Amino acid sequence: MSISAVALSLPPNALGAPSHYTSWYPHQWKAVQDALDAPTRFVGQCVPTGGGKSLIAIMMATLSGMRTCYLTSTKALQDQVLRDFHITLTDVRGQQNYECLNVGDRVSVADGPCHIGYKCPMKGGGCLYYDQVKAAARSKVVVTNYAYYMTQLNNEQGAALGKFDLIVCDEGHLVVDEITSFMQFAITRQDCRALEIEMPNPRPVGVDGWIKWASEVMGKMTVHPVSQYNEQMTGTDLKSAVRRSNEVVQADRKIKKLSSILDATNWIICQSDADRIEFSPIWPAKYAERVMYRGADKVMMMSATLTRKAMFLAGVPTDNYTFTEYPSTYPIANRRVTYIPTVAMNRRASDYNISEWVHRIDQILRSRPNRKAIIHTTSYQRMRTLFEASTERHRMIQHGSGQTSQAINMFRSYPPSSGAVLVSPVVHSGYDFKGDECRVVIIGKLPFPDSRDPMVKSRSDRDKEWIPHQVMQTLIQSAGRATRSGDDWSEIMVIDDDFWWFWWKYKYLAPGWFVDSVQKSNTIPEPR
Ligand code: SF4
Repeated sequence: MSISAVALSLPPNALGAPSHYTSWYPHQWKAVQDALDAPTRFVGQCVPTGGGKSLIAIMMATLSGMRTCYLTSTKALQDQVLRDFHITLTDVRGQQNYECLNVGDRVSVADGPCHIGYKCPMKGGGCLYYDQVKAAARSKVVVTNYAYYMTQLNNEQGAALGKFDLIVCDEGHLVVDEITSFMQFAITRQDCRALEIEMPNPRPVGVDGWIKWASEVMGKMTVHPVSQYNEQMTGTDLKSAVRRSNEVVQADRKIKKLSSILDATNWIICQSDADRIEFSPIWPAKYAERVMYRGADKVMMMSATLTRKAMFLAGVPTDNYTFTEYPSTYPIANRRVTYIPTVAMNRRASDYNISEWVHRIDQILRSRPNRKAIIHTTSYQRMRTLFEASTERHRMIQHGSGQTSQAINMFRSYPPSSGAVLVSPVVHSGYDFKGDECRVVIIGKLPFPDSRDPMVKSRSDRDKEWIPHQVMQTLIQSAGRATRSGDDWSEIMVIDDDFWWFWWKYKYLAPGWFVDSVQKSNTIPEPR
């Protein structure tokens, strides 16, 4: 698949990219070539932020001639790819994103009457969703999200989007989580009611017990749509009729899924209460080929934090992948991570240690009175502790678990010179703060996951490297929130003493571009 040397001197828009792509970032063309030349089915590329991942993927699709599906983890990223490459690709997403034009009144396609037997003439042409699926099936390059792609690929009616030669996994470090989420399911009291069976009492013991229960009730279930379309149905009646019908179909699928689990030792009950019990695979790797990679000749994973470990966890065969790391295009001074010895913020931290920790944060903030900052606390409890004890709390915005967006909007609304500080345990990924929106990032606590969580416990019992891998991924994501382009910069400081031993023991789990950025300073650096 080698491209001739002539192409080397050509800009992206001369090779099929949209016209505004007039030049390559450093390493971008090399990454395209590496992907084209890789002899393996799986290709992993660790491309730091600002390296132009989406163009690399689109050029790989264009120059290889492969029919491609570009997968994103969020609708916001899907929108961004669509904005950048709208001429070259077709976007498709789940039914709830399209209005049923037959009913109107903001009823989504997921609630359309065609799901309960209405023979809609618009299904053949005119329906926003089905037309878009057909357009995607004809398109050479499609963009969608992981959940929709896997739903389509594993659809009982067959894959409506057709075969793809290449799938591109954007934010490739999240593939393991995407497959896990896709495979998780919950049996609820509502499901049992829909199938006219009883929620078992007493509860079966363990996943084995539930599989046995599901196998026994299979023959006793009443599986028929509870409603059929008739012309008198309108508005709310229609919507609830479709919902009730969908409930029966979904509940039937879940009981069948539970009864067909063959490897109970790889499943756990991850959440349980009186009305709901949720099942999850511990490791999704063994199912990845079936639910995600099946049918693709080539699978390309890309992310700023992609590692071999992340690919292994996502079920990539160790003997059939090529992995390449690319240097950061951002000057190191603009993304420097400084560890400042303070206190170890673990369970053994005393009240005195915590007051030292708060004091250190106050020192940093006081030395930068007119700079906006983010403090990553890992838990809501530490967030509140800091807020209550800090002398700088008049600058701080904290939030509850359902108020993240409001807190972020408030933080963004403050002018650069306000010195506003967002204190949060959850803004470590998915949010960008460009330029003066944030100049200081303080990592107050190393982001260890909650060891009481059944999934964390099951995975860490089986793989001692799993928690360090998770911590490293979150740490890198947290550090990168505020340096978003080559001429952007932020001061990133880590003040948890657990960082230093962790770093020396596990820095091999971090990409090289991040390793190069870490330094230690016994005092708070002078403001930049
Ligand atoms: S096919 Fe018709 S009824 Fe079904 S969602 Fe589309 S417009 Fe609505």
